[in-house]
Amino acid sequence: MTEPAIQLKEVYKQFISPKNEVFTALRDINLTVEVGEFCAVVGPSGAGKSTILSLISGLGAPSRGEVTVMNEQVKQVRRDVGYMFQTDAVFPWKSVLENVAIGSIFRGAKRKEAYDQAHDWLSRVGLKGFEHYYPHQLSGGMRKRVALAQTLVLDPDIILMDEPFSALDIQTRQLMENELLEIWQAKRKAVLFITHDLDEAIALSDRVIVLSAGPATHPIAEFDIDLARPRDVAEIRSDPRFVELHAQIW
Ligand code: ADP
Ligand code: MG
Repeated sequence: MTEPAIQLKEVYKQFISPKNEVFTALRDINLTVEVGEFCAVVGPSGAGKSTILSLISGLGAPSRGEVTVMNEQVKQVRRDVGYMFQTDAVFPWKSVLENVAIGSIFRGAKRKEAYDQAHDWLSRVGLKGFEHYYPHQLSGGMRKRVALAQTLVLDPDIILMDEPFSALDIQTRQLMENELLEIWQAKRKAVLFITHDLDEAIALSDRVIVLSAGPATHPIAEFDIDLARPRDVAEIRSDPRFVELHAQIW
């Protein structure tokens, strides 16, 4: 057995409210994502989904319990973890190309190499020809593509995605989901994909973890998604097994 890519053991997260009361957002979370696994977490809004990602990314620390990535306790932001936020995290004053190249440059890559890789990833996410546009000149879907390229260009072994496509129209969303699956299929990174949409969770993942509503959120059930790959997220919804899993989880 190889070590899991991500592991949370008896993790609690508490916040202090403005009235100085303790608010327990997460209670006793146990969760594992294996190397190469595509795992989805579903839960209602306010459940604590983003909080879980903040702990794995190293942007936040648990109040109790242990969070490990590649068997090491998370103590700071790690280079091998990519994080695609729910809201756009692109620099508005930088071109699409610069936005995708800048992460590698921050990490010490040579400019030429960083720009070559950025070009490469922009064509992979369907933005060839838009390299010199600025974010405000793009549609919401295109900005998501920039964010995806920005995350993947750094070649993280672990990818955290926080409701990345929830603001998109259904057609754009399904296109991007299929592209994400294609990229994942080729590279087999560990993905933890947060969504409030059960259909999306089933269509994409190997395993769906369901969270209770908050406060004191914790996983209440887990389902293996034994649908064949490669998948087309639009077609798979009419697969009898998809319908069966959906009914079972719902
Ligand atoms: P989700 O992503 O599932 O919608 P969040 O993880 O953003 O939920 O938030 C879970 C709960 O924790 C919410 O009730 C939210 O108000 C609270 N919370 C999140 N971050 C903070 C914070 N930094 N300080 C205080 N409360 C927070
Ligand atoms: Mg959230």
